[in-house]
Amino acid sequence: MPDTTEVPRTAIITVDDDPGVSRAVARDLRRRYGDRHRIVRAESGSSALDALRQMKLRGDLVALILADYRMPEMNGIEFLERAMDVYPGARRVLLTAYADTGAAIDAINIVDLDHYLLKPWDPPEEKLYPVVDALLDSWLASDHRPVPETKVIGHRWSARSSEVREFLARNQVPYRWYPSDEPEGLRLLEAARADGLKLPVVVAPDAAVLIEPTDAELASHVGLATSPAKDFYDLVVIGGGPAGLGSAVYGASEGLRTVLVERTATGGQAGQSSRIENYLGFPDGVSGAQLTDRARRQAAKFGAEVLTTRDVTSLEVKGSARRVSFADGTSIDTQTVILATGVAYRQLAAPGLADFTGRGVYYGSALTEASACLGQDIYIVGGANSAGQAAVYLSRHAKSVTILVRGSSLQRSMSYYLIKQIEDIPAIKVRHCTEVIAADGSDHLESLTLRSTANGGTEIVDAQLLFLFIGAAPCTEWLDGVVRRDEHGFVLTGPDLAVNGERPAGWELDRLPYHLETSVPGVFVAGDVRAESAKRVASAVGEGAMAVMLVHRYLERL
Ligand SMILES: Cc1cc2nc3c(=O)[nH]c(=O)nc-3n(C[C@H](O)[C@H](O)[C@H](O)COP(=O)(O)OP(=O)(O)OC[C@H]3O[C@@H](n4cnc5c(N)ncnc54)[C@H](O)[C@@H]3O)c2cc1C
Repeated sequence: MPDTTEVPRTAIITVDDDPGVSRAVARDLRRRYGDRHRIVRAESGSSALDALRQMKLRGDLVALILADYRMPEMNGIEFLERAMDVYPGARRVLLTAYADTGAAIDAINIVDLDHYLLKPWDPPEEKLYPVVDALLDSWLASDHRPVPETKVIGHRWSARSSEVREFLARNQVPYRWYPSDEPEGLRLLEAARADGLKLPVVVAPDAAVLIEPTDAELASHVGLATSPAKDFYDLVVIGGGPAGLGSAVYGASEGLRTVLVERTATGGQAGQSSRIENYLGFPDGVSGAQLTDRARRQAAKFGAEVLTTRDVTSLEVKGSARRVSFADGTSIDTQTVILATGVAYRQLAAPGLADFTGRGVYYGSALTEASACLGQDIYIVGGANSAGQAAVYLSRHAKSVTILVRGSSLQRSMSYYLIKQIEDIPAIKVRHCTEVIAADGSDHLESLTLRSTANGGTEIVDAQLLFLFIGAAPCTEWLDGVVRRDEHGFVLTGPDLAVNGERPAGWELDRLPYHLETSVPGVFVAGDVRAESAKRVASAVGEGAMAVMLVHRYLERL
């Protein structure tokens, strides 16, 4: 009988284009780690990536990846960035010469580098092994087991299939997509004893077969928490975007019993951004998915509970407690609440569009559909940064990207850096003074009717993919009659509630509402849902932290 308790023999992979150096690195590693680890050596980034993919398919574990910085075709940073897609948990080390230290420091942000090692490192006992020992220890201490993959079998033009993929991607759940009309998809349907009439079929890591699952069913099968562990908290954070994640990190790290409740997936709008370039500390930008993943791990590390697929539908005042209720009728009580529900995309009301949502028409979900754009002429509606980012990102996949803008210029709605990027990409075209007035197709989008806002002329264009980024609105109807909101539904706080510097009507405490406090004491707001907020990732995170500071002040004076 094989000993199943045995730690599997993991791999350390090293890549250097100089065969002599490559052999020397492998020899040093083998000398010390060869008994417990398989040392894999490659002489180019692409061959190392091939090796990693092979190992992934075989289910091998990779603990450490060392890459030389200066390599032709693909340098070490580019290689490590791609290697992260295959083995995100492996520790990453860049090998550099003294002259390239600057590049190595940059790599800390780009590929979340664990270490850089200056070459040559003689003697290895002093300069190489202590670093590698520490990295292997930290890898062993982490949850490094390979995550069995979730399989999604669906149809390209099934709206629910698209939503399920989006849900899994935004929750950073690794999954593999199998079109239901291709051989492997058919084989999986057969194995799952599903007739394929109801799609998608999801095979969870525990081999459970879910047919057309709801988000909550999916969440519970892929290891996402959906139920609160306690009945009473110090702080309930509603919404898992940057503001909510910021609140959860600061709340939990400062000792508050904290739970974050998110309707769909953590990350909020920022989670859908392909590259956030203006967030402090990331000079080369960071994808929304990476930022979210780090923030969620950070919140969990400090002990915050993070619940997904739980929709908060009401907030009540129960004496000094605040009761937060969910769509299924259950509730939790808390001393304080931070509302961080952000905003949601507005829908475009042109005839036909609603019929094709998820079947060629997508609100915001540019990342998940990127592979579908390969070689296609695609359309994007919107003139703000989110539309610009999506255009830049999708232009790497699509044959052409046309941005449709109602106004005559992007200057007022889009950041200068993005306008410049767009101008420099030949595949992107901007059509000013143009709006979509209708969509048509059979089982998926096939054409759009465009109208010129300048002269009223119309034109029908072939289009299979349309992405809409047309502004957003706060979904705060459920707070009606509880906290005061402005005419657009944004929640009013602090100074905006005061009337001529006096306490607002109905406010019973002998102080004015704190800066981010709503018309209900102990209920605070952070991020985009707040009236007059800045609508930026940094300000949302900052307000999350500040709201926690005010929570403490409120609790001290209870
Ligand atoms: C594509 C895109 C790109 C962007 N790029 C940038 C950028 O580069 N730089 C920048 O600074 N800003 C950018 N922004 C703006 C930035 O993402 C937002 O300002 C920021 O996400 C606001 O954070 P938030 O936490 O307040 O709200 P959101 O991010 O909107 O998060 C709110 C969360 O609350 C949840 N929620 C709502 N109601 C409920 C409820 N009743 N119960 C439970 N959960 C609920 C939602 O599902 C959502 O996850 C971008 C936005 C988009 C859409």
